[in-house]
Amino acid sequence: MKIAIDGPAGAGKSTISKAVAGELNYLYIDTGAMYRSVGLAAVEAGINTRSETELAGIIGDILIDIKNTEDGQKYYLNGRDVTQKIREPQISMAASDVAVIPAVRLKLVELQRKLAEKTDVVMDGRDIGTYVLRDAELKIFLTASVDERARRRYNELRQKNSEADLDAVRAEMIKRDKNDSEREFAPLRQAEDAVLVDTTNMDIGEVIDKILQLAKEKKNVTL
Ligand code: C5P
Repeated sequence: MKIAIDGPAGAGKSTISKAVAGELNYLYIDTGAMYRSVGLAAVEAGINTRSETELAGIIGDILIDIKNTEDGQKYYLNGRDVTQKIREPQISMAASDVAVIPAVRLKLVELQRKLAEKTDVVMDGRDIGTYVLRDAELKIFLTASVDERARRRYNELRQKNSEADLDAVRAEMIKRDKNDSEREFAPLRQAEDAVLVDTTNMDIGEVIDKILQLAKEKKNVTL
């Protein structure tokens, strides 16, 4: 079974997807981490993250790897562990910029489909239900009000002792969602057959239970 979880920034996709995958013993694939890795590579190469030509020059040399370790999932960019680095706030917008470029998306989508080919997966992102895994048995569109999403992301950043400002976090989130929704190729959009889950007034446990329930219902129907 393939479970696709899409939604805007800060909706809790990775926390929820990781937990659902853990409960079901499925592979969790965080596609945002892949776009973040390409964003990081572009920033480090000193190129313009919005330039199709400049990105085309480096995309062929980018190698992304995911490994499951005792300390959780690790992301490697050309053999280097970038798990922490890709979470830095300045990488979020770089990821959103490089994600507009079709050559970047095509390369990452190929990798995502390959990873999901032979195993049960929970994959989260923006275009999983509409593009990457159109045949996923369960599609969830996870969202929450922009204030709630900003508050959650702000608290997360504060816990990591990173300097954060709630208004700045909110503004960055709105800008990124706009960039992600308005791009031409595979924009952020709810798939027609996705279940909308608004988590504004739900806690994490409730969201996980709801998705597990939906997964069980699907499995009974499709098996
Ligand atoms: O999910 P996360 O916030 O880590 O994603 C970072 C960025 O990567 C998003 O803002 C979006 O631009 C891009 N992305 C995407 N398609 C996906 C996953 C992420 O365009 N499937």
